[in-house]
Amino acid sequence: MNKMTVRDLSFAGKRVSLRVDFNVPLDGPNVVDDTRIRAAVPTIEFILEQGPRSLILMSHLGRPKGRRVPELSLAPVAPVLAQYLGRDVAFADDCIGRGADSMIDALPRSGVILLENTRFHAGETKNDRDFARQLARHGEIFVNDAFGTAHRAHASNVGLSEVMTAVAGLLLEKEIDYLSTTIEDPQRPFMAILGGAKVSGKIDVIEALLDKVDKLLVGGGMANTFFAAQGRDMADSLVESEALDIARDLLAKAGNTLLLPIDQRIADAFDNGATHRILDAAADLPSGWQSLDIGPATIDLYARELSGAKTIVWNGPMGVFEMPAFAAGTFGIAEVLANETAKGATTIVGGGDSAAAVEQAGLADQISHISTGGGASLELLEGKTLPALAALADR
Ligand code: AMP
Repeated sequence: MNKMTVRDLSFAGKRVSLRVDFNVPLDGPNVVDDTRIRAAVPTIEFILEQGPRSLILMSHLGRPKGRRVPELSLAPVAPVLAQYLGRDVAFADDCIGRGADSMIDALPRSGVILLENTRFHAGETKNDRDFARQLARHGEIFVNDAFGTAHRAHASNVGLSEVMTAVAGLLLEKEIDYLSTTIEDPQRPFMAILGGAKVSGKIDVIEALLDKVDKLLVGGGMANTFFAAQGRDMADSLVESEALDIARDLLAKAGNTLLLPIDQRIADAFDNGATHRILDAAADLPSGWQSLDIGPATIDLYARELSGAKTIVWNGPMGVFEMPAFAAGTFGIAEVLANETAKGATTIVGGGDSAAAVEQAGLADQISHISTGGGASLELLEGKTLPALAALADR
């Protein structure tokens, strides 16, 4: 990476501001999934080991749209983080202003404080200069480790980087290493698996990957739109009629590089309790039925295609994995990735649903890298430059 990172600076005695991604799912006062909190710990410990004067953490949570929304307070995160760090984490109920200033001043040596949701201020998402300057007063050095928001130009990432010395944290560095460096110059065979609901949100990533991969394996709802573009009757399946022309163009461009499922699990309703069966991909769907997962022959075919790959990247579930009846395809692919990792492949799972599926399958520690950012990981796969990364100091 051509950007400065925490490894390039010394933090001893310094007030350090750290932008983390603590945008975690909450159930009332409880953190439902603390993956993103755990992912921030290595950078936090790296800085604390050097004995800074203080460490000031900031993050957004949800979309409060510039207002104070009590349900989107970061307060529940502080005790969870304190447990992982084995030390106190103070909490300030505003990210700027006198209250936060005096709490930061009162911290003991190397004390840690988490500031309230940056998006409680409208200036955050507007990348407002003035708001960024108020945030900048807290620290002497700025470290950005929030990969999940790196595709957004907001005050607490891009704005801060423009008004003070800014470097990447270890998580941001690792995400870039896997999702950009590895994929730009991949070990081959290089395979991609794409799924999820729609083609339309992933046109750019399909086009970018088609230029690079040896094979692109398609599953999920997006496969239905490709089938419909080929003239197959998909009955009640999720099909994007407005994306049919694009799907046809992509198929023509892709030739043999793009593979579609050879069988699917179809159901008579969008319901876990629906009647369901396997249908060959050559056949039209009976009226009133819909395709909700890839079938077992497709899992076998994709496993054979992926066998021996050196680099595999996966984004988007193979079916409606939230319902157990239609989760076999997604969990099957997760297992194939775990097997190929054990055989020496570098396996990369984009954030969001496929990351959640790998966690649910209990295979997270058998994958080379699971991204903490959905949108940001897609933009990297598309070959785009992330604004928060571009704003960091060059090496
Ligand atoms: P995305 O955000 O585009 O990655 O889409 C993820 C969503 O796609 C998940 O909530 C899945 O339930 C859904 N999905 C996957 N396969 C299908 C399908 N065959 N029909 C309808 N929804 C699907």
